[in-house]
Amino acid sequence: MAKLYFYYSAMNAGKSTALLQASYNYQERGMQTLLFAPAIDNRHKLGYITSRIGLSAEANLFTPKINLLDHVKTFLSQKNELKCILIDEAQFLTKKQVLQLATIVDRLNIPVLCYGLRSDFRAEPFEGSLYLLIWADEINEIKTVCYCGRKAIMNIRFDTENRKITEGKQIEIGGNERYLPVCRKHFKLIDSF
Ligand SMILES: [Zn+2]
Repeated sequence: MAKLYFYYSAMNAGKSTALLQASYNYQERGMQTLLFAPAIDNRHKLGYITSRIGLSAEANLFTPKINLLDHVKTFLSQKNELKCILIDEAQFLTKKQVLQLATIVDRLNIPVLCYGLRSDFRAEPFEGSLYLLIWADEINEIKTVCYCGRKAIMNIRFDTENRKITEGKQIEIGGNERYLPVCRKHFKLIDSF
């Protein structure tokens, strides 16, 4: 039976690398995969999932409006075979889309692997991650470290003067801010860097 998977982590833990490796493993065995990335993420070339270690692959873009179940059904009507669906930056999914993914797993019997951040820079949940934590069959953590050596579970956003930002829009990609994955203790302690 297919399952809905959620791989979560803090920033820069290698989520996109893990996604691209998983997709490659399927393709190496001649199995068709379908990749999705948010249209919002303009850090890299649009329509591609790019990892920090240099891997990349073409991806379909998703916006909050897209119906993922319909999209996959259309894909199946053209390609006739699909073994795995992989979603990058899954924190940007809506609740509705998470339920669409669950339907893909349950009705079409296709595994769906989602990779995303657990929380934002304010230590608040993202909609996509929140509902994936509830609806996924399997939840796995991709680990990364704080500069102190503890496991990083939070994300700090800094402005251009290296001051910690604690308020503002949840989604702000491609700005001049930078992010740092940190442990809980340092999330609370750090005000600037
Ligand atoms: Zn720390």
